[in-house]
Amino acid sequence: MIALSLAEIAEIVGGQSYDIPDPAVQVTGPVVIDSRQVESGSLFAAFAGEHVDGHDYAKRAVAEGAVAVLATRPVGVPAIVVEDVRSALGALARAVVGKLGTEVVALTGSAGKTSTKDLIAQLLQRHAPTVWTPGSLNNEIGLPLTALRATAETRHLVLEMGARGIGHIRYLTGLTPPRIGLVLNVGTAHIGEFGGREQIAEAKGELVESLPGHGIAVLNADDPLVRAMASRTKARVVLFGEADEADVRAENVRLMPSGQPAFRLRTPSGCSDVTLRLYGEHHVSNALAAAAVAHELGMSVDEIATALSEAGTLSRWRMEVTERPDGVTVVNDAYNANPESMRAALRALAAMGAAAQAAGGRTWAVLGPMAELGGESLAEHDAVGRLAVRLNVSKLVAVGGREASWLQLGAYNEGSWGEESVHVSDAQAAVDLLRSELRPGDVVLVKASRSAGLERIAQALLENT
Ligand code: ATP
Ligand code: MG
Repeated sequence: MIALSLAEIAEIVGGQSYDIPDPAVQVTGPVVIDSRQVESGSLFAAFAGEHVDGHDYAKRAVAEGAVAVLATRPVGVPAIVVEDVRSALGALARAVVGKLGTEVVALTGSAGKTSTKDLIAQLLQRHAPTVWTPGSLNNEIGLPLTALRATAETRHLVLEMGARGIGHIRYLTGLTPPRIGLVLNVGTAHIGEFGGREQIAEAKGELVESLPGHGIAVLNADDPLVRAMASRTKARVVLFGEADEADVRAENVRLMPSGQPAFRLRTPSGCSDVTLRLYGEHHVSNALAAAAVAHELGMSVDEIATALSEAGTLSRWRMEVTERPDGVTVVNDAYNANPESMRAALRALAAMGAAAQAAGGRTWAVLGPMAELGGESLAEHDAVGRLAVRLNVSKLVAVGGREASWLQLGAYNEGSWGEESVHVSDAQAAVDLLRSELRPGDVVLVKASRSAGLERIAQALLENT
């Protein structure tokens, strides 16, 4: 972060100074909320959580090098005391980003925010110093913490914005007003909390409503609810997608035998071929979104195509492909799942496994529930089970409760699958089964919604091999 004195910070956040011998002392290190991440010159923000109270760690944070603590009460070490630490962090982020004048790129959507944010970061970083959201820290605490990592050198700040309700994105854009706002898609994530897709669109669209007249709204041409957001912004609209009217388009999309998608990238200033290092064709949409942002920020098509072809995942458990020494390949996509990404992952497994199958290996789809599908749940699980059969997956291991039985039922109905599909009650049972069954040449995909925690299966399969 840029150096700010404790006096300046107290003024920005409207706080009261306690036990501060010298208000001219500057915060030069990162602002953190976990005392274990304190570095020399840090500001430690104390949050009272359900189980731990950051205030109890204030002394430790200062002993570790923090200059002061942002807290809601005096804590016996240098502190700036405020009523609400969350709003104080927000105010600080707003002031710092305003002072720096950094270009802010903000993105939201139901699925693919982190993947796309990581792609954008890898593209822009080649161009100019870039700071981006680590992992999925996309809420009213994570976003200011990320923004506060910007320094005078930072040219681009790439921020993932999450919404669990109306007004959330508006709050975040108020802290770090973006000039470029990207909306990926409107799916069903958190639909229970929102009440319906229209409400989700309403909430995500707050991003483009916040953009200034000289801003750019980057919208998915293939998603009708996102496209319709064009009418909610003053900014210039740039469309990406496979639709003909998209400004940044993918043509001739195909899956390579490796399971990685390839396509011809078409932009208003030319074309170039791209083969992604990421697995699954849903990443084509994410890559186009990233390309549209990079193009608007002045990168050439060739530069973008090269960077996209070299970009990997920066975040865990998203189509992480690992080959074990014994020749079993484990594909860990257990971070999350929705019907679209399930299908994309299965197609990637089928492509990856085709050569393995020809050589006698087998493909295993180890799948758990897709959450938050409401009344669509049965039909969507059934459809995934059927797709596994149509894609000639060798074995389906359905993990969990009734959703797993729907997956298995789909496979049974599509292909009269009996032995080819197994229903196990939990992750441990899946691990036990796979440990005894797997043999060299097999390819195993592990995927389910976050709440299922199936990464345990992938991790167990990769231990001690
Ligand atoms: P979160 O809300 O947890 O932060 P996110 O929006 O950041 O999620 P990612 O972490 O990139 O999304 O991906 C989450 C899941 O969504 C992954 O399982 C991935 O397979 C799937 N996914 C990624 N991109 C897309 C896309 N464009 N369309 C549909 N599904 C996608
Ligand atoms: Mg995320």
